[in-house]
Amino acid sequence: MEEIKYIIVVQCHIVKERCSGYLCEYAFNERKGKFKNYSKDVKIRFLPLTCGGCCGRAVHRKINNFLRMSKKKEGLKKEDVVVHFSSCISFDSFHGGPCPHKEYLEVLVKDKLKLKIVHGTTINEITEKRREQGIYQKID
Ligand code: SF4
Ligand code: SF4
Repeated sequence: MEEIKYIIVVQCHIVKERCSGYLCEYAFNERKGKFKNYSKDVKIRFLPLTCGGCCGRAVHRKINNFLRMSKKKEGLKKEDVVVHFSSCISFDSFHGGPCPHKEYLEVLVKDKLKLKIVHGTTINEITEKRREQGIYQKID
């Protein structure tokens, strides 16, 4: 994977009313789940933020703010950044189905802001088993 300096994790605002986001951070720190391809030997910053609530439109202005500030402060470029949509946004799970505005979020981040995106963060073993059993939709 090309060198990434910054990972932004967009998390579901509704789910985060009850979730601290710890398991996303843990997966990143341990390079597990959807972070497994990033080297542990490279310094990568990690910024979690929520979508701001349905329909997720705040994602555009939050990330735009990040891009402007980080460029001014430390010369960060768009190529240095990847945006992960949290597993509670991306996949069917205990938290409910994937975000109904997932495609819209993709348009905001990928098409409008021209940033790389990845679907998913932490991958829970029990949830994966339930996906195998057909209780939840499988991850593509
Ligand atoms: S993926 Fe899990 S840990 Fe991350 S924000 Fe969603 S519910 Fe919380
Ligand atoms: S837009 Fe999607 S990610 Fe954001 S609060 Fe609504 S359901 Fe959650």
